[in-house]
This record gives sequence, C-alpha cells and structure tokens, in this order.
Amino acid sequence: MEPIIKIENLVFAYAKGEGREAVRAVDGVSLAIERGSFTAILGKNGSGKSTLAKNLNGLLLPTEGVIYVNGYDTADDEHIWDVRQSAGMVFQNPDNQLVSAIVEDDVAFGPENLGIEPAEIRRRVDKALQDVNMGAYKNKPPHLLSGGQKQRVAIAGVVAMKPSCIIFDEPTAMLDPKGRSEIMSIIKELHAEGITVILITHFMEEAVEAERVIIMHDGRVFMDGTPQEVFSRQEKVLSVNLDIPLAVELADMLRERGIAVPENIIKTEEMVEYLCQYE
Ligand code: ADP
Ligand code: MG
Repeated sequence: MEPIIKIENLVFAYAKGEGREAVRAVDGVSLAIERGSFTAILGKNGSGKSTLAKNLNGLLLPTEGVIYVNGYDTADDEHIWDVRQSAGMVFQNPDNQLVSAIVEDDVAFGPENLGIEPAEIRRRVDKALQDVNMGAYKNKPPHLLSGGQKQRVAIAGVVAMKPSCIIFDEPTAMLDPKGRSEIMSIIKELHAEGITVILITHFMEEAVEAERVIIMHDGRVFMDGTPQEVFSRQEKVLSVNLDIPLAVELADMLRERGIAVPENIIKTEEMVEYLCQYE
C-alpha cells in the first residue's frame, strides 16, 4: 500500500529576519509514513520537529524537495484543502486553537470550512465530542474548561474533519499528569480506529506507546526504528540530550545486579508485570 505521507529530500529554510540568520530548520529529510501507523518524533528544542510537522499539512511549503499527503503534493495549490483535510494538526497550546464562544461551534468550525452540509456536521460534532469524552460540555464556553479539556475540544475539531492522519505537536506539554494521560488515551483510541498518528513529544513514556520512534537532530533524522530498537541504543539517545524511558533504565540497573530482564521491556507496565512474576 502507498504510504499516507511521503517526504522526499525535504529542506525547509526560514529566511533571514531581523537579527536572525537564515536557518535550515529541516535539512534533508526523507521518510515514508505507513497508513494507520503510530509514529513518535523526538528531538531536543530547535531540532526541526515543528517545522517538519507544519510542512506535513501545507502550513509551510518545502524550500527543496517534495511531500505527498494521500497522494497530493502539498505545494500544489489546487489540492491544498485536500492536504489540510487529510492531515489534521493539534498544537501545544489549546488556547490558540479554539476560536468560538461555545464548544460545539468550535468543533463545527473545521467541517464548516470544508463545506460539509449542516446535518452531517451535526453528526460529526456529536461523534467527535463523544470520542474525546466532552459530550457533556458541548454548550459550554471553552474558557471555562481546564487545559486538558480544551485540548480535547481542539482534538475533536480535528477529528470532525475526518482526517486520515493527525499530527500532534507536543499536545500534552502544557498539561498536568492527569490531563496528559487522558490525551494519550484518546490518541491511542484514534490510532486503534485506523487514524495514522504522528506524535511529537518530549515525554519518553509517550514515545514508547508508538510503533515507530524517529529522533530528529539538527534538522535531520538521527535515529529511526521501533521503540525497542531506538531505546536499546542508550548512548546514542543520550548523546542528543534525550532521556531514556524509566523501564529501560531500570532494566539496565537490574541486569547489572544479574537479573536477566528481557530486551523487549520498555514500558513501565511491562516492567511491573515482569517484576511481579517474582512474588
Ligand atoms: P522544534 O520544534 O524541534 O523545537 P523548530 O522546528 O521549532 O524545532 O525550529 C527549528 C529551527 O528553526 C530552530 O533553529 C528555530 O530557531 C528555527 N525557527 C523556528 N521557527 C522559526 C521562524 N518562524 N523564523 C525563523 N526561524 C525559526
Ligand atoms: Mg516544536
């Protein structure tokens, strides 16, 4: 099957600005993202993750190279709405994504812009709010909601556009642990329903939930593999100032004490399961 996203030799350079040198924020990236897959993208601040994300739905257009989303070239004017509809984006700050005075109007905003008929919009809004467990808040003003609830409404707004792929750019960075775990459950459910997920995060505990982990460094792909493959190369991960998941760290300490922890343990719950066998 054709990958849903195909990135060929992407370079994105920001122009020289006031007191700012020109930067090649993405500097030669080629990637194929499989339909229905769940990919986490890691990398320290400034490594080019957000720039890459914004290129995936045509918010930014390549300086060099080509990106195909659902077969559409993101630089093709005629298909920009096909691209935007195929690849939805969820950003870090929900306040910047909510535009209406009432939750359900906000969720309807995207489908309205796509020219969907009102009865269908109604159905999509109700379903999307249910998907993110915010049905009870549909008549509330967004400013009364918590950060996590606002982010769930922002996600509903994207889901209501029926995208094939959703790119989450550090969606939990501003949330408390409870808000974070609720957003992660929703992301996992959307993936289970067949949506392709790209999750940019700096939480290793979120990255281990993905099927594939890509580490960006200086605008390039630095590592790319399953979470097991990537996190088993600890020195390489640490060399770009990233953490390794708690379970991987614990596994190493236990191995030093002579306990043969299996290599495939990377999630905290997997470690707990493993250790409980010793009871
Ligand atoms: P990340 O999301 O990994 O933190 P970004 O894609 O935001 O990385 O940034 C990559 C590089 O591009 C950084 O050097 C950053 O300073 C630069 N950059 C980001 N946005 C802009 C902009 N609007 N204008 C100029 N340079 C920018
Ligand atoms: Mg960023």
